[in-house]
Amino acid sequence: MTSAKQKLNFNTQLVHAGERGETPHGKPVSTPIYATATFTYDSMAEVDQVFAGEKQGYIYTRYGNPTVAALEQAVQVLEEGAVSCAYSTGMAALHAAIFACELGPGATILASQDLYGATLDLLYKVLGSYGIKTATADFSDLEALRAKALEVGPRLLIAETISNPLLKVCDIAACAEIARELGARFIVDNTFASPYLCQPLKHGADFVVHSATKYLGGHADVMGGLVVARDNADLLALVGVMKLVGGVLGTWEAHEILRGVKTLAVRMDRQCANALSLATRLANHTRVSRVHYPALAGAHSAETVKRMLRAPHAGALVSIELKENTQAAAFRFMDALSLCVRSTSLGDVFTGVLHPATASHREVAPKRRLQLGISDGLVRISLGIEDIEDIIADIEQALEKSAEE
Ligand code: PLP
Repeated sequence: MTSAKQKLNFNTQLVHAGERGETPHGKPVSTPIYATATFTYDSMAEVDQVFAGEKQGYIYTRYGNPTVAALEQAVQVLEEGAVSCAYSTGMAALHAAIFACELGPGATILASQDLYGATLDLLYKVLGSYGIKTATADFSDLEALRAKALEVGPRLLIAETISNPLLKVCDIAACAEIARELGARFIVDNTFASPYLCQPLKHGADFVVHSATKYLGGHADVMGGLVVARDNADLLALVGVMKLVGGVLGTWEAHEILRGVKTLAVRMDRQCANALSLATRLANHTRVSRVHYPALAGAHSAETVKRMLRAPHAGALVSIELKENTQAAAFRFMDALSLCVRSTSLGDVFTGVLHPATASHREVAPKRRLQLGISDGLVRISLGIEDIEDIIADIEQALEKSAEE
């Protein structure tokens, strides 16, 4: 961290947070990759002191490593949390945050019905096998959410800032209020927004989780996950998962993600502007029946978007439903793209397209998928930083070409 006394602005923190920690060799301007499994000391007395926490230091990379710690500190600063812990993937981070809520058999989790498919699978299949129950609700309907919460008495609520793939923006403050009324904890997966667009802890969440594989890394070349907690007391449990389950973030990965974080704001500004331009252009396209984009979602949601996300942005993803609402039409459209990449991820510098019904929501039963509004002709587009005219030209030619076949 910089030694400046004043509170730095977010864009400055992106570049400096976590960097230039003390080392015996001075302060490296960019945190090196500490490619070491263990750390040694001149005496066993010193080792013992470090183990006991009486002296600062590292012991074993599964317990902590300076490269990983630099990233943890950076994201903790950006999310304005008390503690932060990094893991090997976003899924590992979600698991750690849930574990930190200390649920036992019989406890109920109330999850947004719009969560990422694998997160719902984690809740049903992994936690379910330990006797932890999961109920779901539409978190965009606050009255229904409150009623469901009163009915099931959850110990934990889980939501995403921007849902996948229909891009509903969660009223985190209102959901946090419901969690507080019931004495439940509240985890927000902030992957789709990144801390640049939203800081869920400020709105009352207890934990914020990131798949750093997406916007934080930003270049489709690394996987990672982070949890930031509002309360210091959660550190022990988060570190416990790191030490005992062992899904730690590699040092190379931490270095790559920390590098990605530095350009988050400039990437996001371009990606969000590109998303707005694309959504606006496709809103009346003859081959598209519906465009999902938070800024186009109507007056009610506009107020939530404004309160939750950094103005003037509404996220960097757009989902479109084709007029020919079939998997075949979606595949033809995606195959006809020549610039946009068929990619099962998001948040990268290039524009990527994904077919939710056969990718992120593949494990969800078709009937349930349709109930959720995820039709076979739905395609999710993650905008990159390319020139918007090239992106639009590629998407428009693919819409025309795929319709003619
Ligand atoms: N959360 C969200 C919203 C995601 O979209 C994903 C992956 O697509 C994850 C979590 C899991 O992240 P990872 O693939 O890094 O485990």
